[in-house]
Amino acid sequence: MDNARFADRIQEGCRALGVTVAEDVPGRLFRLMGELLKWNAKVNLTAITAPEEVLEKHFLDSLAVLPEVEGAATVLDVGAGAGFPGLPLKIARESLSVTMVDAVGKKVGYLKAVVTTPGLGLAGTKGVHTRAEGKPEAEGLPRADRVVARAFMDLPDWLDLAPAYLAPGGRVVAMLGKALPEEELKAQAEKRGLVLVTARAYRLPFSGAERQVASFARAE
Ligand code: SAM
Repeated sequence: MDNARFADRIQEGCRALGVTVAEDVPGRLFRLMGELLKWNAKVNLTAITAPEEVLEKHFLDSLAVLPEVEGAATVLDVGAGAGFPGLPLKIARESLSVTMVDAVGKKVGYLKAVVTTPGLGLAGTKGVHTRAEGKPEAEGLPRADRVVARAFMDLPDWLDLAPAYLAPGGRVVAMLGKALPEEELKAQAEKRGLVLVTARAYRLPFSGAERQVASFARAE
């Protein structure tokens, strides 16, 4: 897939998801895909390597949570792996300060290299190698306005862990596969002194795969 076709597909996908990205964003995502696939040949970062799939399953899937991070200044991506959703979110919203943490050193090696790659616009993005266990100070992790993870833990475990990393007024963002009923989301939140702020079910634009994103805040 060439750069122009890739850009058209990103913009088409964003429109279908109801999110807006600036004109230069697809070009930077295309370069990020080049870095990901180059590194993936040496270090096992992702099993998804076909450009059409990287575009949808990594990039659009990450950009789909833009509405949940709008208004935030800082994002912590826990279990970021090859940087999803953290890297596309940062590329789409340059003012965000994004920290990505992963327990596997070679993945963080990639993250640290890619955030300094010229032309990607990733200044202000950090990769941290540690196991997140809910002790931000000891782990060298910041508290953030949005604490997000994809394909990291099931919802109950995520809601047990993530609030430890919240800045005052912050929100935990949960990216889920199959949608859970709102009552279930509310019940899981209540058990942990949280409230459900938003819940949104949608489909990825090309494959039609089901997704849900929910955000939670500390109960007042
Ligand atoms: N979020 C990425 C994505 O969606 O492509 C990666 C998902 S991958 C299935 C889960 C990642 O979580 C792995 O890279 C693993 O090393 C990392 N991980 C597992 N437990 C962790 C922990 N306690 N702290 C930090 N990273 C962890």
